[in-house]
Amino acid sequence: MVVTDFDIIIAGAGPAGLAVAKEVAKELGKGHRILVIDPKLKPETTAAWYSYADRIKANGLGSCVLHRCKSLMYVAMDLTHEMKDLLVVLDANKVLGLWQRQAKSCGVQFVQDTLRDAEQIAYGVSVKTAKSSYTARLLIDCTGITSPLLKKYNLVSHVNTWVLYGGVITHITIKDPSRIYFLPLNDTHNTYIGIYPHSAHKADFYVFYNLNESIGNPTDLKPLFESSFKSHYPHARIAAPLFGRIAGGELNAYALDNMVFFGQSGMMDPPGCGMGFNEILLHHQAFARNIALCLKNNQLDAYALDAVATSFRDPAIFQFQQIIAKYTYYFIFSPTKWRGGVAWLNSLGKDSRHWMRNEFSISWIKQASLKLYNTIPLSEVIQLMPPKDYAYIIEHFLKFVGNAVVEESERIEKTYKKGLIGQ
Ligand SMILES: Cc1cc2nc3c(=O)[nH]c(=O)nc-3n(C[C@H](O)[C@H](O)[C@H](O)COP(=O)(O)OP(=O)(O)OC[C@H]3O[C@@H](n4cnc5c(N)ncnc54)[C@H](O)[C@@H]3O)c2cc1C
Repeated sequence: MVVTDFDIIIAGAGPAGLAVAKEVAKELGKGHRILVIDPKLKPETTAAWYSYADRIKANGLGSCVLHRCKSLMYVAMDLTHEMKDLLVVLDANKVLGLWQRQAKSCGVQFVQDTLRDAEQIAYGVSVKTAKSSYTARLLIDCTGITSPLLKKYNLVSHVNTWVLYGGVITHITIKDPSRIYFLPLNDTHNTYIGIYPHSAHKADFYVFYNLNESIGNPTDLKPLFESSFKSHYPHARIAAPLFGRIAGGELNAYALDNMVFFGQSGMMDPPGCGMGFNEILLHHQAFARNIALCLKNNQLDAYALDAVATSFRDPAIFQFQQIIAKYTYYFIFSPTKWRGGVAWLNSLGKDSRHWMRNEFSISWIKQASLKLYNTIPLSEVIQLMPPKDYAYIIEHFLKFVGNAVVEESERIEKTYKKGLIGQ
């Protein structure tokens, strides 16, 4: 038998790569050979993360919490929506540092290098990097949306991107630091501002907009960020930059023979709400457990790996988030901008938080779809949508709304009959 250099090579030491590295090393136990490749010397991100107190506790990340909040505030024109939840703002680099230490303590090796190419060979995968080349039984690609393999194998079917630019700002006073804020700029592109407080005097502050079938360039937003943070907080200073992309969509394949995609390169960011770090948190343990099983059973073909990569991709949840992402056209181009979105959140009341958590049942989706339809009818949205997206919306949205209308009419009928019997 030919012996490969490594059992697993993980490309990318962002949250996806590190979370999988520490977990899969634990699953495989002593004797595994795992290598993580990243061009950065130590893991660092230019993203900012808020998450949920329950998820952070379940993942043992309490020491990485900078600040706790009680709600997300959405503002658009004359409307506001307060989405109540137990939220935490994280020190993202502390999370990465902790995960790297955990991975190293389980024997994972790290090298400062850049993945350039990979292809299947008879006994595994051949991996080419900027400085070297390796063989492994399995490559897990966690390099994000700019992955060279997504490009080489033409795997992106469609993509919807939130492009973000901002900074950690100090010398400010936030009136109510117990809330995370999403505020509209009401400009032509309908850019939004996100503010995650660290305290009353420090916050992550970034501007972001949505692009369809493009991944954009975060630095294009730099001038807008500079003017908007100055207008909100004239005396603010920038302590560190924040920028990046949150890309969601679909791949033509989530795995190839001896290669699998996880995190943003696996399109795990829900396109509607974009909470990609949170998805990694929710799914990395199951992913690592199943990958370890594939490795032990030597089932490393595209079919087996695809089953692992898509096992937590609930089609109904994805389709619903995709519908919300497509309604974005309406929010960008309609004269009332994001007002309809905030009106929809208000119609959901305290149940709205399930949307941002990307955690909901089919009956929730049906009710939320019906409320969306009642707030902003499909007939209006479709007028502002690129023709190629009609079919998707019609097929998936009507499925949820159609069922919800039937269920609602049955419920009304029952109530009505009960009323008649009571007379
Ligand atoms: C400003 C901002 C705010 C955000 N807010 C939130 C939030 O509040 N909550 C939330 O859940 N999500 C949030 N996100 C999204 C979240 O950051 C992403 O979903 C998450 O970072 C995706 O993780 P990843 O590891 O898949 O990819 P990435 O974070 O993109 O990491 C990819 C890693 O791969 C490395 N790499 C790249 N190319 C190569 C290569 N060729 N070879 C080797 N290594 C390579 C990179 O150096 C990097 O370390 C935010 C993002 C931004 C930018």
